[in-house]
Amino acid sequence: MTRSGAFCPRCGESIEQLDSAPERTAKDSSLCTDCYLEEYDLIDAPDRIHVRVCSQCGAVHRGNRWVDVGASDYTDIAIEAVTEELTVHVDAGDVTWEVAPEQVDPTTIRMHCHFTGSLRGQSLDEEITVPVKLSYETCERCGRIAGGSYASIVQVRARDREPTDEETDRATELAHEQVERLESSGDRDAFVTEVNDVQGGIDIRLSTNRLGEQVSRKITQEFGGYYRDYETLVTEDSDGNPVYRVTFAVYLPPYRAGEVIDPEDSDEPVLVRSARGNLKGTGLVSGETYESAFEDKDAPEATRLGWQADGQETTLVAIEDENAVQVLDPETYETKTIARPAYLDTDSETVTVLRNGGDLYIIPAEDETQ
Ligand SMILES: [Zn+2]
Ligand SMILES: [Zn+2]
Repeated sequence: MTRSGAFCPRCGESIEQLDSAPERTAKDSSLCTDCYLEEYDLIDAPDRIHVRVCSQCGAVHRGNRWVDVGASDYTDIAIEAVTEELTVHVDAGDVTWEVAPEQVDPTTIRMHCHFTGSLRGQSLDEEITVPVKLSYETCERCGRIAGGSYASIVQVRARDREPTDEETDRATELAHEQVERLESSGDRDAFVTEVNDVQGGIDIRLSTNRLGEQVSRKITQEFGGYYRDYETLVTEDSDGNPVYRVTFAVYLPPYRAGEVIDPEDSDEPVLVRSARGNLKGTGLVSGETYESAFEDKDAPEATRLGWQADGQETTLVAIEDENAVQVLDPETYETKTIARPAYLDTDSETVTVLRNGGDLYIIPAEDETQ
């Protein structure tokens, strides 16, 4: 045993045993182990913790801002808050802890914490109970949503027709999906303020101009068509800078997949397969692929003839030659000679035909067009 000649300044014990102690801070290292453990705890926890929670969206206020935590219940939030507020002694070793939350009332959760660890080579146990007080508030975003705040409007319309419910539902869904995408990357400024049914389509009000642009792009990527935007001066900000609200007018293409049209630049009716970019389809006489000129962008001038789904099944009577077949007219039951498109399966006994005035066209079965 070496002698350092030092004595604990508090109790006067000789402290030469400390020469071999592995954990020691400069501060208070002169205390003997007993006095040291009396002076310091393994864990420091606050007497109580206050957590501000948005009652609308579950966001938690941290530092000076609201954060989406994605917690499924407030016990998780309380555990996280306690974890953040705990201070483990700098020299502590092998610290582990368990926590048993006790919901006292809707706004109070008592966190019973049990810690184990070591200080100066001594194994220690500590029990601490920290009450977590939840206060339910409304975060800035939910406040803005409730106040109807918006910076852009996406007007979903269609050229020469009304958008279908399917299209407007999907457009709304695309807006929410984009908000979720931004939210998961930490953006709390993106939200859908409201969606309104209006004459000719829907209006989607969105929190930022950027979001309006993104949603318009997503809609036209999926459905085809195009959008235009125009700005409206709404007000000035506190520095006198103009604040604009941007309207995005989205025009879905006039024709949709499954529709049969007679384009001006085609000498045969066409079953539309896609309206994204330039219109693409299948000619009902030749069976060949039709593509509208690129300049038309989203739609050629055309007459609407009907829908693939309107097709009627009838008997394929005979193959006349490489250009013609005979079918039974499903309404008059007379045999008619009509065009033989390339997609016709000449082995089948029946075909699906679409009537246009006095003419019949063989149309591909629905599952062949995808
Ligand atoms: Zn002492
Ligand atoms: Zn909120």
